[in-house]
Amino acid sequence: MFQKNQIKISRFLRGLKSAMEGRVKKYIFVPSGIIRWVVTGEKSDYLTIENRFCLCEDFFLNGVIKRKIPACYHLFAIQLAKTLDTFQEFKISDKDYDFYINEWLLL
Ligand SMILES: [Zn+2]
Repeated sequence: MFQKNQIKISRFLRGLKSAMEGRVKKYIFVPSGIIRWVVTGEKSDYLTIENRFCLCEDFFLNGVIKRKIPACYHLFAIQLAKTLDTFQEFKISDKDYDFYINEWLLL
């Protein structure tokens, strides 16, 4: 039990650090209103979908496959950045949607 909590706490704290460092970014595409949240990690930017899925390896292996965790640190970071109001916001034209998605998918 202790170990299980430790795993979640470490991700939570890492997410808090990212949130405090302003590494959570909210992209609003206009005029569609599509919103994408991205967290800048150590290696690259990580795209998340609807606060439920993240494209990082930790979420895929431990969240989806092994079902050991509800969220990776990126998902924690987004929730915390929303609560603390520390995220950066960008408005991007819908014309550039494919460009940004392709950038984020290049892991
Ligand atoms: Zn993640």
